[in-house]
Amino acid sequence: MAALRQAAPGYRRALLIIYLLALVVPTLVLLYLDLQSVRRQREEINNLSLSNLRLSGERLAAELERRASRLAEATLRDPDVFQVLLPADRPITPEVAARIRNRLNRIRERHPITQHFFLVQGDAVRFPLVRVPAPQPFEITPGNGNSSTQRFVALFSEAETREIRLQRPDLAVEGYRRSYELGVPDAWKAQALARLARCMQKSNQPKAAQQAYQTLLARYGNLYDSFYRPYALVAGFELDSTGLLVQLHRDLVRGRWELSAEQVDYFLESFAARERHPQETQETEFLDHLRLAHALEESFRLHGPIRASEVYALALTRGQTNYQTYFTPLSSPGGPKVLVGLAVRLGWVQNELLRQCIADLGMTQNASIAPGLKQLSAVPEGGAARVAFKSAFPFWDLSLALASGPASAVAAHRDILIFSGFTVLVLFVLVLGVLLLIRDVSRDMELNRLRADLVSGVSHELKTPLTLIRLYGETLLHGGDFPEVERQSYYQIITRESERLTHLIERVLDFSRIDRGKKQYPLEVGDLAPAIASAVGVYGLYLKRRGFSIETDLAPCLPPVRFDPEAVFQAVLNLLENAVKYSGESKFIGIRLGSQDDNIILEVADHGVGIPAGEREKIFQQFYRAPGSAGKGGYGLGLFLVKHIMDAHGGSIELESEAGRGSRFRLIFPCIKS
Ligand code: ADP
Repeated sequence: MAALRQAAPGYRRALLIIYLLALVVPTLVLLYLDLQSVRRQREEINNLSLSNLRLSGERLAAELERRASRLAEATLRDPDVFQVLLPADRPITPEVAARIRNRLNRIRERHPITQHFFLVQGDAVRFPLVRVPAPQPFEITPGNGNSSTQRFVALFSEAETREIRLQRPDLAVEGYRRSYELGVPDAWKAQALARLARCMQKSNQPKAAQQAYQTLLARYGNLYDSFYRPYALVAGFELDSTGLLVQLHRDLVRGRWELSAEQVDYFLESFAARERHPQETQETEFLDHLRLAHALEESFRLHGPIRASEVYALALTRGQTNYQTYFTPLSSPGGPKVLVGLAVRLGWVQNELLRQCIADLGMTQNASIAPGLKQLSAVPEGGAARVAFKSAFPFWDLSLALASGPASAVAAHRDILIFSGFTVLVLFVLVLGVLLLIRDVSRDMELNRLRADLVSGVSHELKTPLTLIRLYGETLLHGGDFPEVERQSYYQIITRESERLTHLIERVLDFSRIDRGKKQYPLEVGDLAPAIASAVGVYGLYLKRRGFSIETDLAPCLPPVRFDPEAVFQAVLNLLENAVKYSGESKFIGIRLGSQDDNIILEVADHGVGIPAGEREKIFQQFYRAPGSAGKGGYGLGLFLVKHIMDAHGGSIELESEAGRGSRFRLIFPCIKS
């Protein structure tokens, strides 16, 4: 038996593990398979939405190209563009280029797609200027006989001869000064002043030269010399002051002077050589326009005939910069074959035109266009498609991401979470169920064990009184003469032991009836006090003899209650027995019966060992015995029976106790409601 009991926990543990594994493993496998299939479905949906995305992308790209070329065409066909028509044979000087630029800038303001205009004739780029025409010798036509003009010509020519032919700048100073002082056009005066300053410089008059350059800078800074160099720059480099150079550099890159691309490169190098310019002004629209001029010159080639009614697209690249251009012949009957073109304002297309197309196509995707080689920095969860343009923008790709991408990803995540959550919950409930079942089974097994113990314990306890009764009975039967006192004491022993026997059997029978659900309490209406008094009377005598002091306070004339006298007797007896067993040294028992509110209350108190707080609930369970109760007799049934009796009476049992200071049990009977 003992061996079996020892084997049981190990066996049970193994059983438990098998149970749990049988639940957990298949559930986890199912969960895994389901998640896999969810993942596969998601992938398929993604693929599907990606191909949809690609289709939308192709539509969007085509629409963007169509609109860009339509807008470019509208721009190039703007009636004002015709105004920039050039005489084919006339060289384009910076002054002419500046006028063209002004005119084209005004047109450009009406057409946001335009970043720059350009003009091409044959294979030569005419605007913006790539290089300036060959220097014009300073030709002074005597003109209409104006006397200042004639004097200027005479003085200037002579000074020039002295400076250049005779190599005597010192002798030329005077001539240039006098010609400068004459009332002639600014271009002539500026020329004379520049020569004057140069000759002063060469003939060791630095201060005077500086002053002359200052004047040149201030008065004629916007004019050009015969090499098409702005006088401001000529003077600026001579004066060589940091603040001035910084300012001139800024003016240069912002397009104060209309210069050729080559000139600008040259001047920028000069500034760089002097290391006196702010770096941040390098990126300007003017410079970009000139870079376009270089790019056009390097790559602009016409393939096949050009028709006047057509607008052509051409992409160019130079260094890191890409240009998307559109051009068309600027035709006039019998006029020169000049092409006018525009470079697209890419930023505007990227932001504005794309947005318009998306809105007009009713698309909800996130779209962006970016240089084709650039990778998407973060691919959105829902996926992204990249589409190349077909007829224009070869340097770009169109990237599309599902607008609902992240949201659907969130939804999928949520689904997976809910799904897994439910599975885990079901698993948890199953495992909990199994654990509860196992706990129940264990408790049943434990109860069975206790019942078996009860049987053997009770049988053992029956032995003592039976032996005593038999012993004293036989003694009285065969013993002959005993003094009366002794005989009386034998009778008492026999009576007491048979009472104990009855009590024990009664209790076991009660428990067995309750256990089988057969216990019934015949309730009758009456006064509780006599029933309590009889129980106290029967047991009190015995207790007093054992040295207990008993204090009773039974209130008379209490309201009637419905009760089973025998069960109440039994309950009181059980409480008194416990008070005796657990009274320790104090040997005090208090019994009080009274009424409170609508209840009759019976209190049994002792000053004994008390009951720790953690035990107070448990002691009413069947077979429960608080630690430290061993050796005091009993099977943990007394209080269980009392509670059962009180429940059957519609009442309750309360306990106040303090470990080491005693306990007070209160049986509460409800009064009959009148
Ligand atoms: P038992 O047969 O062990 O007395 P009971 O059901 O009557 O069984 O009591 C359950 C437990 O409650 C006891 O083992 C004891 O530890 C505790 N108990 C009951 N009455 C008292 C009391 N008056 N003072 C201290 N402990 C008590």
